[in-house]
Amino acid sequence: MAQRQFQTEVSRLLHLIIHSLYSNSEIFLRELVSNASDALDKLKYLTVADEQYKALAFDPRIDVSFDKEARTLVVADNGIGMDEAELADSLGTIARSGTKAFLERLSEDAKKDSSLIGQFGVGFYSAFMVAERIEVVSRRAAREEAWKWSSDGKEGFEIEPARRAEQGTTVTLYLNEEGASFANRWTIEDVIKRYSNHVAFPIYLTFEEKEWDDKGDEKGSTTKTERVNSGTALWRRPKAEISEEEYAEFYKQFSGDSEGPLAFAHTKAEGALEYAALFYVPKKAPFDLYNVDYKPGVKLYAKRVFITDDDKDLMPVWLRFVRGVIDSEDLPLNVSREILQQNKILANIRGASVKKLLSEIRQMADAAVSGGEEAKEKWETFVSQFNRPLKEGLYQDYANREALAELARFKSTALEDGAWTGFADYVSRMKADQKYIYYITGGAEKTLRASPLLEAYRARDIEVLVMDDDIDEIVIPALRAYERESPGADGKPERKSWELRAANRAGADEELGEAKDAAAEKKAKPVIEKIKKALGDRVKEVKLSRRLRDSPSCIVADENDPSAQMAQIMKAMGQAAPEAKPILEVNGEHPILAALAAVEDEARIADTAFVLLDQALLAEGLRLPDPSDFVKRLNRLLAG
Ligand code: ADP
Repeated sequence: MAQRQFQTEVSRLLHLIIHSLYSNSEIFLRELVSNASDALDKLKYLTVADEQYKALAFDPRIDVSFDKEARTLVVADNGIGMDEAELADSLGTIARSGTKAFLERLSEDAKKDSSLIGQFGVGFYSAFMVAERIEVVSRRAAREEAWKWSSDGKEGFEIEPARRAEQGTTVTLYLNEEGASFANRWTIEDVIKRYSNHVAFPIYLTFEEKEWDDKGDEKGSTTKTERVNSGTALWRRPKAEISEEEYAEFYKQFSGDSEGPLAFAHTKAEGALEYAALFYVPKKAPFDLYNVDYKPGVKLYAKRVFITDDDKDLMPVWLRFVRGVIDSEDLPLNVSREILQQNKILANIRGASVKKLLSEIRQMADAAVSGGEEAKEKWETFVSQFNRPLKEGLYQDYANREALAELARFKSTALEDGAWTGFADYVSRMKADQKYIYYITGGAEKTLRASPLLEAYRARDIEVLVMDDDIDEIVIPALRAYERESPGADGKPERKSWELRAANRAGADEELGEAKDAAAEKKAKPVIEKIKKALGDRVKEVKLSRRLRDSPSCIVADENDPSAQMAQIMKAMGQAAPEAKPILEVNGEHPILAALAAVEDEARIADTAFVLLDQALLAEGLRLPDPSDFVKRLNRLLAG
């Protein structure tokens, strides 16, 4: 029988696969199972769509078996099968354009990074990594004759007539030295579960189970066949058919979380973009949420075949707490990390997925208002675990900024300790003539609530958001304003925007409408001069405050300077913080200031001035540059 030559590209591909992919050789089984599953899909379609096949009794299955002694591994299916021409075409040439692209990339790339290549699906030929010879016996559905294709994967292949009882394909691998370890029940099970667990058709494994007599001697063995894959591609089933319990069970099995999920979102898209996605929000933040090298929680499948669980680009960083699956109908198996990154299909799926998750989170937030105690608790759990990543999104995800601004939660002077509010609620409580959203950052909640900076707001009964999360310091100034679109009086959408204003800025008092009092300024001038002289370059300026009521002093940052808290964060992160000195504001009505006016002793003036500055820093939760100096001065003043 004449040997037929492989197409030149096949020879090259075979060479490359065998020499660069072997470190990841197990993927051959994924490829063979995926081919079998495709063949079953094709026949299944015909039995519904084509008269000629409608009568066919069809019980789709994939069978895997092995023989340790003979060193063979067999993957069989009863799918569509191939006739002689199809065998020669499909297994003698490169059918897929993706494979061609793969080849081109590989040959361009002199340094063959085998871990990168391992991301590719390389199809049937990958079996030559583990086999020195492959035989494929196939019978096309609705035909009588069968054919045997065989090859050693070097030059070419042979095709001869064969027999097969029913339609389908049997691939027999004569394993090579390295491949011998695959003739093992546990290895096969492990690989199938990993890559092909969600393949829709049952995958059976046949193996010999040894029997032992009472003395512990081998008595013989029985042949057993067990199903290996669970086939529960839950995300592929219609939503209406899936119970809450099933969703929860799947989540536990999938994520390894012993608790059920807090929420889930299941979508199926059809049309231009065909995919299914199932996302879960855990009840607890994953332990590595704040590690740079966190493990991504979303797995990518192509037609139910596992592609990767290690692609951080499937979701934006801020959604890294989400667990789930994206399963595309349009992605080829042969998709590399680089290709994934540039893939338009995936970019579209990702965009739609983020929107879906945002709307799911929004529903949770809305339910907390309109729903019962349980809905409220659910939302509170979400906020306690994931408010911070949402705020990261506010900073990073420009496209979804508005939706995220509706979801981020803050503490507030209008609410008791520990309660949360959002921008929309704040705006609904605003005074009729109030233009801005006020907030205070830095320090712990308690410190912020007691800050002298809030005295004027309190006096005017104006709500201030208490931002005690250190990320607020970065996110909120960058956000600048809370914007939203809502139906206007005429029903047309109307854009509204409220600027965000920090309480610890120079000028915040003016915004509040605190008028300048020339007489008071004049009266305070000498004492302010004294303080200024004593503090020298420790402060940018000393000013008469219009915002203080009870406290003698406070510090604020100049309009364009970073706040003292921000400077401290930047330092802690090892970044060079620009040298920005605070502005000290003093309360002219306070007895300390009144007393200071009468003091002439320079040392005592300095002690008072430094204590005024240091206590203002302390009140904002900041560290003192020289605590012992503060203590000494304070003690001298107390001693009289
Ligand atoms: P791919 O499956 O990605 O197209 P492969 O190299 O794995 O690439 O397979 C090439 C072709 O061989 C398939 O497209 C299919 O037409 C055919 N083929 C492979 N395995 C089977 C099978 N078990 N049953 C029917 N056809 C098959």
